[in-house]
This record gives sequence, structure tokens and C-alpha cells, in this order.
Amino acid sequence: MTTQAKILLVKAGHGLTFEVKTGQRLTISDVDGQQAADFVAVAAADRTEKLSPTHTRRQLGSLFFAVGDALYSSLGRPLLRVAEDTVGIHDANVPACDDTRFTVDFGVDGHRNCLDNMHEGLAHFGLSPFDVPEPFNLFQNGPVTADGRMRVTDPTSKPGDYITFDVLDDLICAVSSCPQDIIPGNGLKVTDIAISILPAPLDAAGA
Ligand SMILES: [Zn+2]
Repeated sequence: MTTQAKILLVKAGHGLTFEVKTGQRLTISDVDGQQAADFVAVAAADRTEKLSPTHTRRQLGSLFFAVGDALYSSLGRPLLRVAEDTVGIHDANVPACDDTRFTVDFGVDGHRNCLDNMHEGLAHFGLSPFDVPEPFNLFQNGPVTADGRMRVTDPTSKPGDYITFDVLDDLICAVSSCPQDIIPGNGLKVTDIAISILPAPLDAAGA
């Protein structure tokens, strides 16, 4: 019996919502490199329980996460664990870009943005824009300097780089290929993100 991965594509500058189950392996890949992928999740059983960068930073005692670390929920439960990571640089500190990021900061109306990208699909699960969790910004390069200052610059990810999570609970997830093309953050070129979901060993055996 082969373990067939389910492959999904997040088109450049757009979003995608999908479900994962306990025991599956979720891989998010930067197809062309230097592309940030905002990632959020809520528990399928209780959509008010959110994957939470704030709680994760507290649990890890760190602004950043690495292989072996869990990502925690707003109720302090581990929802995902980092199994593999070919990049090692991700952001868990800044919000998703939203409409005001473009209208207020850059004077651009109607620009695509990560919050709308992620809410688009999550709305079908009953979430309002205010229910969309704070994101983990995969591949995003947000160094923090010794004096506590934060920057966002272009990702270090190369074509095909990826991060894989062991899924620890049933989740509703959303990913946005960040449409930021005005300042560095995506190499000033917005590109696709690929998602692969490997079945849990028991599912695969019974498939
Ligand atoms: Zn964005």
C-alpha cells in the first residue's frame, strides 16, 4: 500500500483553506524561493481555539521556533510539531498584511493581502475576519537585533525549500502566498506555495 500525499497549490498572491487530521504530516513548500507563506489554524472541534504565536513564544521561551518544537494553541495545547525544516528562518512576531497595511502605509487601495486571502476560505467555516488567528509567517525573514529592533527583509528560502509539521490535532488551516510586492519580503516577486498532506500511518494502512 503506497502512502499517497495530497498536493494542493496556493497560487501566487492568493490563499487556500484546508483541513488536516491528527497523525498526518503537513508540508508547506516555497516553490520558487523567497516567498513568505502566512499560516494560521484553528482546532476543528472548537474553532475559537487558535494556533497562537503568542502562546508558542511563551511556551518555547523564544521569539523563534525550530525542528522539534511544538506550535501551541491559545489554550496552551500543542497542535503541530516541526518535523523537518530546510530553511530554519521563519517569523512568529508580526501580523498578516491586511488592507490597512496597503492603504495606510503605502497609499494603495484594493491590494490583495494575507488577511483577506486567509479569511476568504475560513469564512466558509464561520470565521469572521476578527476570528482569523495571528499568523506564523513561514519563510518570512524578520530578524530581531540585539537592541530589540525588528525588521522584515527577503526570505533566505531557495526553490523547493520546505517545512514539515506532524499534526497533533484535527485542524482547519489557511495559507496565504503573501502578496507584498511593494517592499522587500518576497524578493519583490510573488510566487506559488505548495502544500502536501501525507496520511497518518494508520489511514495509509487502511486505505
Ligand atoms: Zn502578507
